[in-house]
Amino acid sequence: MDKLSYVSEGSTTAWSTYLQQIDRVAPYLGDLTRWIDTLRHPKRALIVDIPLQMDDGSIRHFEGFRVQHNLSRGPGKGGVRYHPNVDLNEVMALSAWMTIKCAAVNLPYGGAKGGIRVDPFKLSEGELERLTRRYTSEIGLIIGPQKDIPAPDVGTNAKVMAWMMDTYSMNHGTTITGVVTGKPIHLGGSLGREKATGRGVYITGREVARRSGIEIEGAKIAVQGFGNVGSEAARLFVAAGARVVVIQDHSATLFNANGIDLTALSEWQASNKNIAGFPGAEEIASEAFWSTQMDILIPAALEGQITRERAEILSCKLVLEGANGPTYPDADDMLTSRGVTVVPDVICNAGGVTVSYFEWVQDMASFFWSESEINDRMDKIMTEAMIHVWDKASEKSCSLRTAAYIVACERILMARKDRGIYPG
Ligand code: NAD
Repeated sequence: MDKLSYVSEGSTTAWSTYLQQIDRVAPYLGDLTRWIDTLRHPKRALIVDIPLQMDDGSIRHFEGFRVQHNLSRGPGKGGVRYHPNVDLNEVMALSAWMTIKCAAVNLPYGGAKGGIRVDPFKLSEGELERLTRRYTSEIGLIIGPQKDIPAPDVGTNAKVMAWMMDTYSMNHGTTITGVVTGKPIHLGGSLGREKATGRGVYITGREVARRSGIEIEGAKIAVQGFGNVGSEAARLFVAAGARVVVIQDHSATLFNANGIDLTALSEWQASNKNIAGFPGAEEIASEAFWSTQMDILIPAALEGQITRERAEILSCKLVLEGANGPTYPDADDMLTSRGVTVVPDVICNAGGVTVSYFEWVQDMASFFWSESEINDRMDKIMTEAMIHVWDKASEKSCSLRTAAYIVACERILMARKDRGIYPG
């Protein structure tokens, strides 16, 4: 493969991790391997300068990105991240993982991602709005409901999506709700979007538990992250008869052998901003989280949490990757060798992008579905996707992660092959 001149090399960057994952899947792709370099090259990467007049009158410049990694199967789909560490390398990797995720669940999308190198918590609301509007205008050259559809990610939310939708619409002279997803409900957003990722974690977990002989009823669950994803996944497992014995967030690690009362914990979190000090559980040392007796682990906080050392001591039989990239490759190998099943992020947390797809479909049709319709359709898509990956893993005697990559890469490269190379 010809090396890309515009990304720094190094074995620990997000892009190099992604390339290693592609190297791992290559031997399984047969004749399609001829096309695999498609996945090692982003189709399009746009870097934009965003000048911003600050509230004090000074002018600052911020760096923004939008990368469309692969569009062979449809328009690009992927979030917009506002974070001080955003750079081209990270956005490229995140866009590539969206390509894999959309194909693994068989959504008619390619992969894209965007971001601005900024700490959004250091801006006033007015500055944030002006930053978002200028960024949207700059990337307006390449986004659009049939081209590339952004969504929220770390540091952005429904309000930012509303500004993006409005800016794009102003530039086109008509309201175009389908240009972004994750919007407020009253602006073309979808019911069920907020809880979709946690729900998808539960659905994929339910299917894999059933096939691995793991009983959910009575199972001991450990959850890292009690935010959007972790809290909903935990709630659904408890509704199915499991008990959450340990929960960790950025502020504390809580343990209760009889099961933590999630309703009481949510109420505590709502008034205290985090879970520290909750009276219904014992506070334990953060590293003790990993050695707690558990049947199912749900990392739903940050990337890079399951190291090889932690993988060695985990007592669970099943890991459900709610977060993106929580497991290091060497820890993944350790878990596989210890007989622990890992449901990889590209399928486990795809419930969010699946309901984003529903939002886009509803916007295009200007016809909106009920929450139960949305949940039923998502259950069907996620269940079918999970079973397909499970069967592929059995057929190839490989991990679920490798199987998910095989399924996704086959779909992407078949599309690539059949479209052919223009101009031939
Ligand atoms: P969130 O901000 O709602 O919650 C994050 C949680 O992680 C919080 O409880 C926070 O306290 C906790 N946390 C932060 N730092 C921690 C630390 N050092 N140790 C332990 N806990 C820590 O975020 P979210 O939307 O729930 O996203 C969680 C993960 O899921 C992220 O990796 C995200 O990329 C991924 N994800 C989210 C969605 C979605 O739809 N929200 C979709 C796909 C993937």
